Amino acid sequence: MMIGLSCGCGYNKEFSIGVGMMWGDLFELPLKAGGFVSLRKLLSDRAEYDLVKMLLEEKRGKCADYGQALFRCPKCRTFTERFHYLIEYPGGRYSRACDCGKCGAALEVIPCGDEDGDGPDFSAYPCPKCGKPLSGGIVGMWD
Ligand SMILES: [Zn+2]
Ligand SMILES: [Zn+2]
Repeated sequence: MMIGLSCGCGYNKEFSIGVGMMWGDLFELPLKAGGFVSLRKLLSDRAEYDLVKMLLEEKRGKCADYGQALFRCPKCRTFTERFHYLIEYPGGRYSRACDCGKCGAALEVIPCGDEDGDGPDFSAYPCPKCGKPLSGGIVGMWD
């Protein structure tokens, strides 16, 4: 889905959130079906790729969630979209940590719900430009 954020000061941005066609069976088992070929492309960090592979294969983990997600920097208030995934395995869960491209702080995921909902209440977040409450919501679909 497309999430639009705007503010009276002129801030206006759209983000593509969710699972697109291109990631159809990214984490599907069995691994030899090619899932890890695309995963390898996506995870450019070899150490992260090895970790994910180990969690799925040895820890019997399952991918509980993945796709484009809306992230927010708690420090400089920047919103950004990044690929996000969550792997759950007996005894724990793992998701990739993302850093803010502007200030380097750890980004937090903003849960956007599904296409049937209204999306999160963006007025709870300050505008990245002026600090006033944002307006925002689902503005369309892309997948
Ligand atoms: Zn930041
Ligand atoms: Zn503003």
